[in-house]
Amino acid sequence: MALEKTLAIIKPDAFPRREEIIEDLRKSGFNILERVDEHVTVPEWKKFYQEHDGRDYFDRLIGHMSSGPVSILVLEKNNGIKDYRQLMGATDPKKARKDSLRAKYGSEMPKNAVHGSDSIEAASKEISIFFGGKYK
Ligand code: ADP
Ligand code: MG
Repeated sequence: MALEKTLAIIKPDAFPRREEIIEDLRKSGFNILERVDEHVTVPEWKKFYQEHDGRDYFDRLIGHMSSGPVSILVLEKNNGIKDYRQLMGATDPKKARKDSLRAKYGSEMPKNAVHGSDSIEAASKEISIFFGGKYK
């Protein structure tokens, strides 16, 4: 298994519980290389989620992400990309495994508490959106 970096975001709905989520991440073996708490603007979210442009939920997703601050994290772990997707659980918090982050901290889509990159390519692209060439 390779040591992998992935981008995690604690979304505005879960931001008040960010310290608990970060504690869960550490307990699950993730090393936190970066953490930035900030309010990201609508144009930046439109760029980040550009693959979803045109979906019926796109405006609600962008509206939610820009409704308040988020925590942007770079995580590192062996097999980190898949392991973090597992820890997050299914996209819909109502269908997510009971012990997953989305079941514990999310409510109803698009308010599902956390984001995670879904592939090596996506992780590299998403990390560079927020942290430039630092991990290239
Ligand atoms: P994931 O975040 O699990 O990779 P997607 O990439 O499919 O899921 O979707 C990105 C985000 O868009 C989701 O995390 C969720 O916040 C939102 N979203 C996806 N599908 C829906 C939907 N049907 N209704 C509302 N929001 C949605
Ligand atoms: Mg996705």
